[in-house]
Amino acid sequence: MSHQEPKIPFSSELKELAGHLREVHRQAEALGLFVEDRLLLHCAGCGLREDVRFDGRLVTSLQGVADARDSGLRFEPSAGGFVCPLCHATLSVRDEGEDN
Ligand SMILES: [Zn+2]
Repeated sequence: MSHQEPKIPFSSELKELAGHLREVHRQAEALGLFVEDRLLLHCAGCGLREDVRFDGRLVTSLQGVADARDSGLRFEPSAGGFVCPLCHATLSVRDEGEDN
């Protein structure tokens, strides 16, 4: 099957804007900002949970810990959702966020 460049019904300005948005998204990710289109994760196994600070940075801390500094741990994306970096439980994104 030959692959032809698809006809895009958008103006070149719109394509340029989309390119800028992708770059801003990439830069925000590089800065540790939460830019994902999903709910924040909470591991029922160990209590590790994600939070977003006032400045937009994604952090994790253990539920119930008064000193909720960033643990530095991050949930790892996997085929079924995410893997907890602490107890290695697999979290399905769809199951999360109901208690928030
Ligand atoms: Zn866990």
